[in-house]
Amino acid sequence: MAELILKPGKERSLLRRHPWIFAGAVARMNGRAKPGDTVDVVDAEGRTLARAAFSPQSQIRARAWSFDAQAIIDDAFFKRRIADAIARRAAMPQLAEQDGLRLIHGESDGLPGVIADRYGDTICLQLTTAGAEKWRKAIVGALIKATEAFGIARIYERSDADVRALEGLEPVTGWIYGEAPPECDPPLSIDEHGVRLGVDVVGGHKTGFYLDQRENRLLTRALANGKSVLNCFCYTGGFSLQALAGGASRVLSIDSSAPALDGARANLALNPQLDASRTEWREADVFEALRTFRKEERRFDLIVLDPPKFAPTAAHAERAARAYKDINLLGFRLLNPGGLLMTYSCSSGIGVELFQKIVAGAAVDAGREARILRRLAAGPDHPVALHFPEGEYLKGLLLQAD
Ligand code: SAH
Repeated sequence: MAELILKPGKERSLLRRHPWIFAGAVARMNGRAKPGDTVDVVDAEGRTLARAAFSPQSQIRARAWSFDAQAIIDDAFFKRRIADAIARRAAMPQLAEQDGLRLIHGESDGLPGVIADRYGDTICLQLTTAGAEKWRKAIVGALIKATEAFGIARIYERSDADVRALEGLEPVTGWIYGEAPPECDPPLSIDEHGVRLGVDVVGGHKTGFYLDQRENRLLTRALANGKSVLNCFCYTGGFSLQALAGGASRVLSIDSSAPALDGARANLALNPQLDASRTEWREADVFEALRTFRKEERRFDLIVLDPPKFAPTAAHAERAARAYKDINLLGFRLLNPGGLLMTYSCSSGIGVELFQKIVAGAAVDAGREARILRRLAAGPDHPVALHFPEGEYLKGLLLQAD
């Protein structure tokens, strides 16, 4: 097996079990390895610290599969890791009943580069690294085996994330197991706490849906009774429909994407128990729409701000910080006295503390006092490995303004 020899001192993060080995930490390589091959990661003293997948094209030069120097990385390894990830979720009462949930969450499940989301009888799989790509057959086989009990009928591969390019990998998409659903089938959908939500694994965002906000949508529902709600960046209306289910008096939802709003209207139609007359869908840029509302002196009791990733990496943090500040400033200005703001960032480049600082600055500029009622994050099907802070990409605040 080839060896990546680290520069002196560069073993520290690995000793703390952080799974990434950056190119700058590597002194040299002994032997040869192809993309995705397993290599030994060796410190300057000659101790083997990890077995990792080699990514020659990426700044993240290797990602640890295991911190056991003797670990054998083979089909059985993936079978165990995948079965464990799925068993952990099955053992959690709040996940056991869900038919829409993340089954494998990359590094935090010990499987860098592997994402698998379940939507009813369909799994959407995303492989983003050379290591995951190399083991694709083992991963797909293990996934089929481990999900037999849920009656999984098909797997769609959605390996089209931009990060694959950094690994020198081409995008791969298509049905890789089972039959593609026939055209006339009702659309794929999940039941999120009694609300039916359609999922487009082929054309939707990410693997088709934002499963990471499930519990936060449920919180919105718990808070919405009798309130006028503004849902910004609504995508296919997840927060909007849960607010409606919670008894919101009005729900105004904004997104700049016409297909997303079509999906939202279709989702509303899937839920005849909800009062459609209380909803309004608006295709607009949120920044502009909020300024217009400000001029019109409109006010809301509950505002959800769930924007796209403004800062995919730390390099974008400054511009992203301005965008987060802008929307939060406008959000505070549009809140009724005592109103609630649910504000999120899913940017890995903006940490929890920085996000709070940005939002606090927005409140000051808006001239509003506000308190944090709750800190928000992704649900337990998107766990964060304790040694992998990058896994905590989704952060949010539930705030109450005076
Ligand atoms: N809250 C949603 C997910 C939001 S994803 C859920 O729970 O499912 C972010 C959404 O923001 C996308 O649908 C995208 O179309 C939209 N978007 C991005 N930039 C925008 C802008 N400037 N104005 C309005 N919508 C925007």
